[in-house]
Amino acid sequence: MQCASPIKRRKTRQIMVGNVPVGGDAPIAVQSMTNTETTDVAATVGQIERLQNAGADIVRVSVPSLEAAEAFGEIRKRVTLPLVADIHFDYRIALRVADLGVDCLRINPGNIGREKRIRAVVDKARDLNIPIRIGVNAGSLEKDLQKKYGEPTPDALVESALRHVEILDQLNFHDFKVSVKASDVFMAVGAYRKLSALIEQPLHLGITEAGGLRAGTVKSAVGLGALLMDGIGDTIRISLAADPVEEVRVGWDLLKSLKLRSKGVNFIACPSCSRQNFDVIKTMNELEQRVEDITVPLDVAVIGCVVNGPGEAKEADLGLAGGTPNNLIYVDGQPNHKLGNENLVDELEKLIRRSAEAKAARLEEEQKSVIARG
Ligand code: SF4
Repeated sequence: MQCASPIKRRKTRQIMVGNVPVGGDAPIAVQSMTNTETTDVAATVGQIERLQNAGADIVRVSVPSLEAAEAFGEIRKRVTLPLVADIHFDYRIALRVADLGVDCLRINPGNIGREKRIRAVVDKARDLNIPIRIGVNAGSLEKDLQKKYGEPTPDALVESALRHVEILDQLNFHDFKVSVKASDVFMAVGAYRKLSALIEQPLHLGITEAGGLRAGTVKSAVGLGALLMDGIGDTIRISLAADPVEEVRVGWDLLKSLKLRSKGVNFIACPSCSRQNFDVIKTMNELEQRVEDITVPLDVAVIGCVVNGPGEAKEADLGLAGGTPNNLIYVDGQPNHKLGNENLVDELEKLIRRSAEAKAARLEEEQKSVIARG
């Protein structure tokens, strides 16, 4: 029952990362990065599959050596998600992974070295329709820019990005996206805002080295949230010193909270207090895990008492308003039936699954009628 997002997105030139469109009017893609040894093919494939199950659209894999490039080729054959190869300096790795089926090259053309090498990579990318991601990072800013600006600043990040952009422009290569990441929220936001006014290419957003699960989530939500609310950003990565699956979950929660994408159950739950008529926190902890597999967008309200229960439950696809002696279940905004506290989680899971099935069928019908209307 969610309304559309009021955010007006900046229109960018669309590129394709494998079969995933990035930019233009495409949904904002959620990315993460593997942290296994790339040469450990089985572990990396396993992690990519976990990321896919969590909802990743694109996964980045670092390829630090030619040996890792060969492993990347093997990984490419075994997974279906589009893969970005993260390469620094060595143009031979870029050429090799291009031949092995990479979907995007994360390489900064200005760092490859001689013009002949840059041209070789760009020509290969053009021939094989592989986009490039220019990835500027405050932690590895060019020495002359550090000297010019004294320290990393938004202007320094943008100047660095534009150097790489200019190289690609001169080679008449336009299928790229750009990131200007910093661990400082103000610096990253400032850089992205400036850059978005200067180029038409899609932007890959991230607050780099944001920290552990809790602090990193907050930093990323503040920085990326500010940019996304400005309509800036075509793909995101939440950088966390945590299981990369968490990056995907947080990414989705961020996009869901801004109504930019919807997937799975969106819980509306109260923090609980002494008025609660059932244990809200315990119920939520169990429910969240049980319904992780559901992909159809569904708003579910779980509210402890009548203070806010009926109001929130009415707005959701499925709602539980706590009450004595019984709680009240709402379906599609209407009071439906009463439910006691016994086996509450089991009963709620059943109701959520039933609502998800009904919603999936409804969405399919709507889709069919849109297609029939042409
Ligand atoms: S909805 Fe009721 S139980 Fe939940 S926090 Fe508010 S007053 Fe407390």
